[in-house]
Formats: sequence, C-alpha cells, structure tokens
Amino acid sequence: MKAVLIVTRTFGKYSSEPIDLLKSNGFHLEYSETLDVDLLKGFDAIILGTVKLSGDAIQSSSLKIIARNGVGVDNVDLRVATQMGIPVTITLNANTISVAELAIGLIFLLSRKLVNVHNDLYQRKKFSPSIGIELFKKTLGIIGFGAIGKEVAKRALCLGMEVLACDPYISKEVMGQYSVEQVDLENLLKRSDFVSLHLPLNQSTRRLIGERELAMMKKTAFLINTSRGGIIDETALVEALKKNQIAGAALDAFEFEPLPENSILYDCPNLILTPHIGAHTYEAIYKMNMMAAQSVIDFFNKRLPKHIANPEVIDRLLQQGFSQ
Ligand code: NAD
Repeated sequence: MKAVLIVTRTFGKYSSEPIDLLKSNGFHLEYSETLDVDLLKGFDAIILGTVKLSGDAIQSSSLKIIARNGVGVDNVDLRVATQMGIPVTITLNANTISVAELAIGLIFLLSRKLVNVHNDLYQRKKFSPSIGIELFKKTLGIIGFGAIGKEVAKRALCLGMEVLACDPYISKEVMGQYSVEQVDLENLLKRSDFVSLHLPLNQSTRRLIGERELAMMKKTAFLINTSRGGIIDETALVEALKKNQIAGAALDAFEFEPLPENSILYDCPNLILTPHIGAHTYEAIYKMNMMAAQSVIDFFNKRLPKHIANPEVIDRLLQQGFSQ
C-alpha cells in the first residue's frame, strides 16, 4: 500500500471527498503540520501546503511525487526534485477566482477606508464618516498578468477602471485582448492609483518592490499584495506608509509566515493585513484538494499527472512507461 503524507491543514477539512478518493484508490494517509528530514522516509507521496520542503529532505526521502496543494512552488527545492526525477505538481487555476476576488475586495477596503470606519464605529462608537474615493475611472496596475492577474483585470474593467499590466512574459497582443495596456514597471508604478501584485516569488522577483519603487508611486496610491511576501521589502513599505509616501497597502502574504509577533507590520498606519487567505474559500480548497489527490492517483497508475511544475522530468517519466 502506497503511503501519502499530508502536510497541509486544509486537506479534507471541509469535505471528506479528497480523503475518500485517495483511500478508495488504496492509499494510506498520514498527517503532519511540520516537516523534518527524517519524517519523509517511508512515504511515497506528499501533498504539500506552504511548509518548506528542502532539498535535503527530498534527497533523503522515498518520495516519488510531490503534489502541491496550491500553485506557488517557492517552498519546494525544485532543483533537487528535478535532479531526482520527482514530478512536482500544482493545482493550476483551482484558486484563481478566490485570489482575484480577494484582491478586488482589498481594493474596496482601501478605497473607502472600510477597516478604519468599522473599527471607529464598532469598537469606539465613533460615528465619524471618513472620505474615500471611487474606483470608477481610476487606474489599476497589475504586476504579473497570469491566471490571477487576468481575472483581477476582468473584474476591475467591470468597475470602470483603466487597467495597466506589466509582465515580461506576456505579449502586448494578449494584454490587448483583455483591454489592458502593456507598460513597463516604472510606468505602471507612476501611473497607477492601485498596484496589485500577482507574480511568483523567485530570485528575480524577490524584493521587486522596495524603497525606489515605492517612491515612484503616487502619494495617493495603494499597494495590494496577494501573491508572495518576499516580493515586497516590508521595511521599505512600513517607512513609506509612516511617511505618507503612499496612501495605504493591504497584504495577504508575508516574508515570514505566520507573521511573527514582533513584526514591524503591526501597528503601521494605513495597512490592512489578512492571514494568507487568498485561497481560503470552500470552492478553492475543494478544487485544490481534489486536484492534488488526483495527481497522486494518476502518478501511481502510471499516467502523467497534470500541471507538472518541473517539466524537465516528463521525458524520464515517459521513458519509464508513463502515458500522457
Ligand atoms: P501564473 O503563473 O498564472 O501568473 C504569474 C505571472 O507572473 C506570469 O504570467 C508570469 O509571466 C508573471 N511574472 C513572472 N515574473 C514576473 C516579473 N518579474 N514581473 C512581472 N510579471 C512576472 O500564477 P497565478 O496563478 O496568477 O498566481 C500568481 C501568484 O499568486 C502565485 O505565484 C502565488 O505566489 C500567488 N498566490 C497566492 C495565493 C494566496 O493565497 N494569497 C494563492 C494562490 C496564488
């Protein structure tokens, strides 16, 4: 019997279907919230949330497949997995709508200062309407025009916003099909009233938004990050907010998670924090869980799982008799 280690708190939490699916296909399941090098010995597969899976842990494991319960692979040592011929699968598009809706929700919170006015009234009984702005005819700049970025663009256009996007890997023509103007990063930062991040964290995007980039933004502009924490220099952001260099920010992802108790992000003006809830909807979790479970089942039935994040392993799998 093949053994699967589940290292993600949401797997099977709201529906038993993904657990039933694996069990009815003959898999034995075990659960852990953390990972260490020795824990992975004896497991054939892992279904992994955002806990870090190091190269050392992969190397000393008996894993044949790593199934991410999500789309980012920044917590997996892809290089080592690829060297060992282990496919790393992602649950492509399962949480796209949920994250896009959260980004739009955060834009609304910021534009009307909804968190502040709620706290004033609810906690302090202070009936003091504050002034906000309309989204209509404002400019949204999207950095990273992939699956989520496109869904955010569609929703923003419905609200009557102008949408700019910056993505070195997506053509002007594709952006044009979405009625989005292609711009470079500097142009986007200078022209946008809202800047929303939807790109992966990797070596070239780490600290992409730092002091210099924040200084390019309008004083009235807002920054929204529902992608990955390391993309923003958090110290520079706190400085910019304290100096009113930008009007506000909303973050769903952080350099260190869970957010440490001594984080400088607490007690910072005009900053909204959410605890990495982008994909936390019943719909997204169900889709992610079922797709991750199916990847594991497909793999052990010698079928190529869908959405392999390290396609370099595919040839090797085909040579081993896997079918497409
Ligand atoms: P995607 O791969 O479809 O899109 C990412 C886009 O970013 C791609 O089009 C890519 O070309 C672009 N990109 C890469 N480097 C860039 C750069 N330097 N500048 C501008 N664009 C760049 O991924 P997606 O499904 O749209 O997800 C985007 C990110 O959102 C993920 O990488 C993940 O980190 C994050 N995410 C967060 C949550 C959450 O819970 N908050 C949930 C899902 C995904």
